[in-house]
Amino acid sequence: MDDISLIAVSKVQPNERVAAVLEEGHRVFGENRVQEAEGKWPGFRETYSDVELHLIGALQTNKVRAAMDLFDVIHVVDRLKLARAIARIADETGKCPDLFVQVNTGDEAQKAGVPVGEVDALVAECRSLGLPLLGLMCLPPIGETASLHFALLKKIADRNGLKGLSMGMSGDFEEAIAQGATHVRVGSAIFGARDYG
Ligand SMILES: *Cc1c(COP(=O)(O)O)cnc(C)c1O
Repeated sequence: MDDISLIAVSKVQPNERVAAVLEEGHRVFGENRVQEAEGKWPGFRETYSDVELHLIGALQTNKVRAAMDLFDVIHVVDRLKLARAIARIADETGKCPDLFVQVNTGDEAQKAGVPVGEVDALVAECRSLGLPLLGLMCLPPIGETASLHFALLKKIADRNGLKGLSMGMSGDFEEAIAQGATHVRVGSAIFGARDYG
């Protein structure tokens, strides 16, 4: 497991639980929303300057600048417009988070991610924009065999020469690791259930 990055997904969790995990020495965290992360992480970073923060939830183009300022890695690039917005700000500021292209492996109508048939084109566009692309990310459809989606993601990554695979959550990270995950995104198994109350 040495080269697998465990992203502790801290969305919605109370600060005390996050602080406890920081206290234990963990430094790699994931958040879904830019705004929520902006309220939480600048404060923690004053104490823990080596925190590595991953954005794993949908990103609107009007939040790109804020996201690039706060996050070290963005897992949700799923359209050319977003890739272009990131590239424009990277040119301007001279820095860019590492990126994953999110793939809608189940081609679900309501889900984020680039359709399977359009991944190769988007990867090529990201490369021609000079973006630092690490790999691909997916969230398998609920109720389907996750490992089939993980295997598909790996196949698409392989044919595009991409090494990074962001896949696997609390319920299926073992299958994801078996299929070659390099980054697993684990929330409730670390922090306990989220209370959306
Ligand atoms: C919330 C979330 C996770 C973590 O989910 P758990 O089931 O709590 O491990 C992982 N990835 C994404 C994209 C998420 O939104």
